[in-house]
Amino acid sequence: MKSIPYGKQYIDQDDINRVVKVLKSDWISQGPTIRDFEEELARYTGAKYAVAVSSGTAALHLAALAAGLGPGAEAITTPITFLATSNAVLYTGAKPVFADIEYDSVNIDPAQIEKCVTGKTKAILPVHFAGLPVDLQEINQIAKKNKLVVIEDGCHALGAEYKGNKIGSCQYSDMTVFSFHPVKHITTGEGGAITTNNKKFYEKLLMFRNHGVLRSDAVKAKLGGWVNQMHELGFNYRITDIQCALGQGQLAKLDGFLKRRDEIARQYDAAFRDLGDKVQLPACDFEDRKHAWHLYLFRLTQKAGIKRREFFDELISRGILTQVHYIPVYQQPFYRKLFAGQRIQCPTAERYYEEVVSLPIFPTLKDAEVKYVVESVKDILNNQVKQIFPSPSQSRGRGVGVRVARIK
Ligand SMILES: *Cc1c(COP(=O)(O)O)cnc(C)c1O
Repeated sequence: MKSIPYGKQYIDQDDINRVVKVLKSDWISQGPTIRDFEEELARYTGAKYAVAVSSGTAALHLAALAAGLGPGAEAITTPITFLATSNAVLYTGAKPVFADIEYDSVNIDPAQIEKCVTGKTKAILPVHFAGLPVDLQEINQIAKKNKLVVIEDGCHALGAEYKGNKIGSCQYSDMTVFSFHPVKHITTGEGGAITTNNKKFYEKLLMFRNHGVLRSDAVKAKLGGWVNQMHELGFNYRITDIQCALGQGQLAKLDGFLKRRDEIARQYDAAFRDLGDKVQLPACDFEDRKHAWHLYLFRLTQKAGIKRREFFDELISRGILTQVHYIPVYQQPFYRKLFAGQRIQCPTAERYYEEVVSLPIFPTLKDAEVKYVVESVKDILNNQVKQIFPSPSQSRGRGVGVRVARIK
């Protein structure tokens, strides 16, 4: 069997046809396909507005700017996320503050958020980690009490639901950010988007996406048809029509993608249940939330009898290209330097990080591949456990002290 990645895109002939059609049209950027994709995304998530941009990172940066983050401000986020969440806060000159996670859900802990609020706090950036929604209502209450903007990082959670609404509906937040990188639920090659129900944020996002330039019919009528005035220091974070054509094809297939991800997660859950307390399986028993299964987080407890490092290496050697999501952000060399002298400690995040690997989960992963992953995981764990705790019958029966486990 050839190697299995942890995540991968699926592109079909329909996607290719859509892209070719745009390539042959007059508009390959800043044309009508971008607006169409944005409208479809807004309809899918249930938000009033969507702004498509060049990446999820650009989307986070624009949302942070629209929220008014800047020098002197603080924004609270989780240490267990992709670097871009807190990097986007830094881009604005504001300071990220890390609140510890809940062990079971791996999501930011609302009680820890409250402890991190100071007079400088302006925003909260919760991440729906692995695709499991955070408790948005609770976070919204903290935000209201302290007059904070809530920016959901929904990069793992397109298609997930909270209390009957899609993530991105912004019912309990100000903005939600998505990524269309190839490992995410849908792809545009590179790309991202922000959804919001707030017209002021929407207009700021459009302006910051395009160099800070405001297009105004009133200004043109007064000063001349060529006049586009720059009001803020913005960026070129535009996405192309070519990419949005792919995005439309992908969005049309999203529900099928989500269904397959859910099936795979259930297959893993059922297969690993008999490993008992050697492992911690992903939490998903929230009645008010629907998981989007961007990642399947498989955790080894102390009872597993094997270190994560060995387990990881053994999976790789068997062609299962697992990953670890993620090193706590504040432990990155850059962040250590940035916060030099300040001791940041999120013990639950650090414990989680020692235990986790992500098992393959993506729409085209076949049942036979799921079975191979399951059998490999069990083989590694069972061999290792026998090596550390040889049962008397085993030692006698085999005539050797301990069965040699196939661990490097
Ligand atoms: C992927 C991701 C991003 C960044 O998205 P890009 O499109 O790669 O820039 C941000 N936050 C999280 C949680 C992500 O997984």
